[in-house]
Amino acid sequence: MHANLTLTEAGPEARSSRMISGWGRYPRAASEILAADSPETLPALLHGRRGVIARGAGRAYGDAAVGRRTTVLTGALDRLRGFDPASGRLRAEAGVTLADIVRTFLPRGFFPPVVPGTQFVTVGGMIASDVHGKNHHREGGFGAHVEALTVLTPDGVPRLCARDREPELFAMTVGGMGLTGTILDATFHLRPVESGWIRQQTRVAADLGAMLRALDADDAATYSVAWIDCLARGPALGRGLVYRGEHAGREVCLAAGRDPFPIPPRGRLTVPPGLPGWTLNRASVTAFNALYFRRGRAAGASALVPWHSYFFPLDGLAAWNRLYGARGFVQHQCVVPRLGAEAVLSGMLDRVARLGTASPLAVLKRLGPGGGGLSFPMEGYTLALDLPANAATFALLDALDRCVVAAGGRLYLAKDARQSRDTFEAGYPALPAFRDLRRRLGADGVLASRLSTRLGL
Ligand SMILES: Cc1cc2nc3c(=O)[nH]c(=O)nc-3n(C[C@H](O)[C@H](O)[C@H](O)COP(=O)(O)OP(=O)(O)OC[C@H]3O[C@@H](n4cnc5c(N)ncnc54)[C@H](O)[C@@H]3O)c2cc1C
Repeated sequence: MHANLTLTEAGPEARSSRMISGWGRYPRAASEILAADSPETLPALLHGRRGVIARGAGRAYGDAAVGRRTTVLTGALDRLRGFDPASGRLRAEAGVTLADIVRTFLPRGFFPPVVPGTQFVTVGGMIASDVHGKNHHREGGFGAHVEALTVLTPDGVPRLCARDREPELFAMTVGGMGLTGTILDATFHLRPVESGWIRQQTRVAADLGAMLRALDADDAATYSVAWIDCLARGPALGRGLVYRGEHAGREVCLAAGRDPFPIPPRGRLTVPPGLPGWTLNRASVTAFNALYFRRGRAAGASALVPWHSYFFPLDGLAAWNRLYGARGFVQHQCVVPRLGAEAVLSGMLDRVARLGTASPLAVLKRLGPGGGGLSFPMEGYTLALDLPANAATFALLDALDRCVVAAGGRLYLAKDARQSRDTFEAGYPALPAFRDLRRRLGADGVLASRLSTRLGL
């Protein structure tokens, strides 16, 4: 259970206090760590505490799952409470991981309705961040597939909420970053699938305009995502590869001589601790990007790809967050509205290319209409960039934030480690209603993360 804690070193503050961080290993802060045993004992554990936040698998990049004073690990809330094979309806406790769900249900012909880029996340974390997948343009975020939640509110009462029962609590808890209450369990729908294979089509986009047109052409596709070579400049600015995907039918797999439900290889390579921060430098990233682009172009248009390679390619390399060295890294993920997006994104990519410290992980996706509350998605394009945590990056990101705000966009809280209050407030029009609900729930000061404190939530 404690594997979900990115511990660094013992903190000086208190004996039970540890230095912890999110996936980016930046920032690090001291927090008391408590482990929940079960949904039933959680009210007593939290009684009278202030500055508390729930933590799932700790895959948010920044400080969202780092408690102002206390961080509560939810890994022991790991029971599957009920499944109806006729409808695909699953009730699961909040600490159940996506990996558990796929391992249990894919061989039975069911797949989660929405998955982020890693399977090492919990049900509670996916709902609190209203995570989006490669199908957001068509099927919305994870929250859109949730039927009901049990939420432990600050008064110590577990409340069942849904769209027609305590609708405000339900709507604000989806995407609410743990700040309305602690999710104890959730009921949501899995989709029936005939196999664990994806029919993938790869297209090359020579520049940003071609890239956006290719993503727009995927309106009817179930999955669509693009990788951008963000060190390419001039006429090649925004070049990359666009991957469209559809669940493959059983017959297609059998005809290709494939087991319809492939199992990922056992054992993963692990990045060792203590790598120097220059492991990812301009030369290595340029070489990687050029190779990746060439291989993608040569790979041909269509292929059958197993679920783990299509949805979770980064999971094949354990602890890859160590590649950025001890200072850690940040992810900047924004969404900008469709109208005028090409000019905004090309201005941003040009700044990134000029700085030249970008990582290979630059991803562009189309998003459909948003889920409300503090949910991140809005109709538009989302760009995610990984960058080492240093002064040059922070200056660049401040400039990118200004572009995003001017375009009417916003930054994703699950990735954030450094945006200003002004940027945050400009991007989230539901903020006053969210704050008002927190006041009425008695959550002010009681449920608080480093992120909520930094952003004045
Ligand atoms: C490699 C990688 C790829 C990713 N790809 C995507 C992607 O494609 N799309 C996307 O949307 N996100 C993506 N993410 C982000 C990730 O999906 C979210 O940060 C998600 O919230 C992580 O889940 P977790 O269980 O690790 O939650 P944590 O990181 O532990 O917590 C995240 C937030 O959820 C809250 N929370 C956790 N459990 C509960 C609970 N029981 N009750 C109330 N609140 C709770 C925390 O307080 C915190 O605010 C990616 C992350 C990584 C590392």
